[in-house]
Amino acid sequence: MKAIVLEEPNNILFKDIESMNLIDSTSVLVRPRVVGICGTDYHAYKGQQPFINYPLVIGHELGVEVLEVGSDVHHLAPGDACAVEPYIGCKEQDGNLCFSCRRGHTNHCTRLQVLGVHIDGGLCEQFVVPSSKLHRSAKLDYEQLALIETLAIGYHAVKRSGISKNDVVLVVGAGPIGLSVIQSVNLIGTSVLVLDVNDKRLQFAKEHFGVNNTYVNPDTIAKEMRSLLSGAMPTIVFDATGNTKSMESSFDYVASGGKIILVGFNRESIVFDDEQFHRNELSLIASRNALSDDFTDLIKLMEDGIIDTSHWISDRANWNSLVKTLPIWCDSTDLIKGVVEIT
Ligand SMILES: [Zn+2]
Ligand SMILES: [Zn+2]
Repeated sequence: MKAIVLEEPNNILFKDIESMNLIDSTSVLVRPRVVGICGTDYHAYKGQQPFINYPLVIGHELGVEVLEVGSDVHHLAPGDACAVEPYIGCKEQDGNLCFSCRRGHTNHCTRLQVLGVHIDGGLCEQFVVPSSKLHRSAKLDYEQLALIETLAIGYHAVKRSGISKNDVVLVVGAGPIGLSVIQSVNLIGTSVLVLDVNDKRLQFAKEHFGVNNTYVNPDTIAKEMRSLLSGAMPTIVFDATGNTKSMESSFDYVASGGKIILVGFNRESIVFDDEQFHRNELSLIASRNALSDDFTDLIKLMEDGIIDTSHWISDRANWNSLVKTLPIWCDSTDLIKGVVEIT
């Protein structure tokens, strides 16, 4: 079968690989229909993604059609449209649960294998996935289903924050992860401010995500927010940049008693002033991936029309052109979300 393979950094190929068949009675053979591409894929292409073993079939944001189900799978049938939760944990590997999985925290399983990151993903004609990782919808189309993983990252982070309507939120970074945070904050009705150095992204957030107050200059934002908030500061800051300097700056943007949620990440150390941290009794929280329930919740919210995803996709590529398009998307500053239709 055909697949899109990252052979090594900066080398993406359209290639014939061995077809997959049903492995066991609880697995499902699926045909990917729409695949979203994100920063993880761009970093993998550029060789900046630390966990990648090349060659790799990328693709972890997946809207798939069920082709065949194992004999013990009764909740799915051929033709069903599903989103894929691409986090393969202990339960799906050998059933020996790690500490995180035993506590239900499958999003940070110590043996986590993410489809399209640690193991081959969905940019191929068909692949096998554990039935528990498929989230069916009778209403959503394949593009909507391919967006759910991105939305789940923000949804999970917002749940981690323990947000309430009276909070004031600052989201740093208005790329897809920042937008997914904003979309979930909007569900609570909390006021949200956004900082990004790219003004086009801020305009997009204003136009399509109901954001009123945006800031483009990290050097002046603290003063500007104080003036807007009558001397106060945001009570929750989400960092969706993964940029060390930006993460460190979050400590200067948050109110006394406030929370900082790091959604973006990198491999470097972040340094903060403990006196400031303690004096203000701040909370620092990491958010990683998402849980199965986050996928279920989002499908319902989208099916009920509470979450509107109609503005999300800025660029589309077809299956045959992706090897040329992906390197261009990698360097685009205007792109919000690119998706590939597999035909
Ligand atoms: Zn992604
Ligand atoms: Zn585990």
